[in-house]
Amino acid sequence: MNESSFSELNIQPEILKAIQEMGFEAPTSIQESCIPLILSGVDLVGQAQTGTGKTAAFGIPAIQKANRGSKAPSVLILCPTRELAIQVTGELIKLAKYTDGIFTVPVYGGQPISRQLTALKKGAQIVVGTPGRVIDHLKRGTLKLGALEMVVLDEADEMLNMGFREDLEEILSFSKGKSQTVMFSATVPKAIQNIMKKWMENPEMVKVEGRAETAAGVDQYFMEVRDSMRTEAVSRVMDMANFKLALIFCNTKRLCDSLVQELQSRGYSSDALHGDMRQQVRDKVMNKFRNGQIDILVATDVAARGLDVDEIDVVFNYDIPNDPEYYVHRIGRTARAGRSGMAITFTSGRKKKQIRFIERMIRTELKPLPMPSTKEVQLSKMDHHIEDLLETLESGGLREYIDQLEPLAEGHFTPIEMAAALLKMRIERS
Ligand code: AMP
Repeated sequence: MNESSFSELNIQPEILKAIQEMGFEAPTSIQESCIPLILSGVDLVGQAQTGTGKTAAFGIPAIQKANRGSKAPSVLILCPTRELAIQVTGELIKLAKYTDGIFTVPVYGGQPISRQLTALKKGAQIVVGTPGRVIDHLKRGTLKLGALEMVVLDEADEMLNMGFREDLEEILSFSKGKSQTVMFSATVPKAIQNIMKKWMENPEMVKVEGRAETAAGVDQYFMEVRDSMRTEAVSRVMDMANFKLALIFCNTKRLCDSLVQELQSRGYSSDALHGDMRQQVRDKVMNKFRNGQIDILVATDVAARGLDVDEIDVVFNYDIPNDPEYYVHRIGRTARAGRSGMAITFTSGRKKKQIRFIERMIRTELKPLPMPSTKEVQLSKMDHHIEDLLETLESGGLREYIDQLEPLAEGHFTPIEMAAALLKMRIERS
């Protein structure tokens, strides 16, 4: 697990402020290795795929190194799809929120070229684009790469798979020898090595290592739910299984805080544990969790370091962790002291790829778990109440209650109807 903080990576204060606002607590391992190297100016190949925090790994140095105020772009980022180009642009805009003189413009197919022309004309320091559309602009002369200082190939293997090799080489030929070349790719097959040989100078290789071993005794599941349904899924799982103590992991401090509010408004006693809190407050929250005064603790990876509470029934990965090693640390918080435990990781759409990556790294398949339906939750709650009922019957001490109810049972209602009414009242109140 990472021990360093963003402030140790020579990142300028304006960007640090934005990182803080985005709620990132510590750099992911690919960020920790790549940011200083890219800032130093070397060519670099990062073997990392989506979910590892690779966008910020190249985005932070790109913003820091871009030539502020210059009208011609100094950074070009190439992505295989328009979706990724839009996503990368969004992340860069957030990271550059407090950095003056940096404009990031996306250019991709499917959007009217006129809109992109206007944006480029105003002056963009960072251009994010798909190879085909970048070539269009180069041919029209609406994009000039003469002042380029850095080229980033994001998801390079995907770009090659999609048949963009020639386009890539054509674009790279514009900047050959003049600019730093950075590449991120999940895999490094022969075709990628050829590009490296031809267009990069002694590139540094950085890889997210798959050292992670899985925690024993934890039943590991993934649950496919839309992001907006994740809190509902947490509460259904908690109610259905009658869990007492749960730990939820989020990737950002901000999400921790908003999730705690959501859980509290649903009636769960919940609190957050993250790096923005003073040690004293953290200790207080931890004690409450240990004593069972909090049912659901919502934490970031950093804050949960060293957390050892034996009775945690379930760990939820509300966000998929940025590093498979974090995954193992997280789920290892349950199934302690010889107990069994459960880990549920939420996923949807494109995020499935990240699950596959974790599975490969930990050499374990996560089992699919459907979100419980409301009907299932209701039936299961009924079972829990009936279990309680049987326990109460067995433990006795009912005389004074029997005395109260006996006269009623001799009247209009049968004893079974009365028992049903009590059960109904209890269920409706729970
Ligand atoms: P990426 O691998 O770039 O697609 O990033 C995956 C997700 O992780 C994105 O939603 C990022 O905003 C987020 N992210 C990137 N860096 C960090 C970090 N240091 N801490 C928490 N989340 C991060």
